Amino acid sequence: SNFASLGLAEPLLRAISETGYTTPTPIQAQAIPLVLAGGDLLAAAQTGTGKTAGFTLPLLHLLSQNHVHPHPPGRPRCLILTPTRELAAQVEESVKTYGKHLPLSSMVMFGGVNINPQISALKKRVDILVATPGRLLDHTGQRTLDLSGVEILVLDEADRMLDMGFIRDIRKVLALLPKKRQNLLFSATFSDEIRELANSLLHNPGCVEV
Ligand code: AMP
Repeated sequence: SNFASLGLAEPLLRAISETGYTTPTPIQAQAIPLVLAGGDLLAAAQTGTGKTAGFTLPLLHLLSQNHVHPHPPGRPRCLILTPTRELAAQVEESVKTYGKHLPLSSMVMFGGVNINPQISALKKRVDILVATPGRLLDHTGQRTLDLSGVEILVLDEADRMLDMGFIRDIRKVLALLPKKRQNLLFSATFSDEIRELANSLLHNPGCVEV
């Protein structure tokens, strides 16, 4: 299989080939068509499997196919939650790399750094927001961030987010999102707590395991 046969748009195929990838990894081959079809996804995948491109590529495709006019600042269309600032930064790098030929903008936010540059950045258009849960809630509390336009939610490394005690924060974030949206959950392990979160979050998910 190759990336073109998965149905990705030409600007993404160009970015993929510039990155040097020739063949989708197993998780990409399974996840990309499911996400492009608009369904929810439950993915069991370790880091190193290519999971980041597995969700980043199809969400960039979907966002680029459906334009929103006008697009108010500080109102992302896609929210990617990660457990750590390091992972958030890496995921946003991937978004930028794969999305470089698309007219979509991204931003990363995490705690432990001055909030003011983030507030300034939210005054511009942000299509894709990659965030850790605590700082995200600081912004929604200050109304510098509006989550009512989120079309796609990704929970990356959901098991680590629960291990780090983020379940209450995740629940608070979920309550701020519109009901009608696409949900993607990635986790390396599946405890009862993860299953419970997946059951409450996902509707009829496609399941992939690698
Ligand atoms: P991840 O599991 O998302 O952390 O990705 C692991 C590594 O695999 C990253 O360094 C990616 O750049 C690389 N990668 C992702 N997809 C592919 C692919 N289709 N072909 C070759 N390398 C890839």
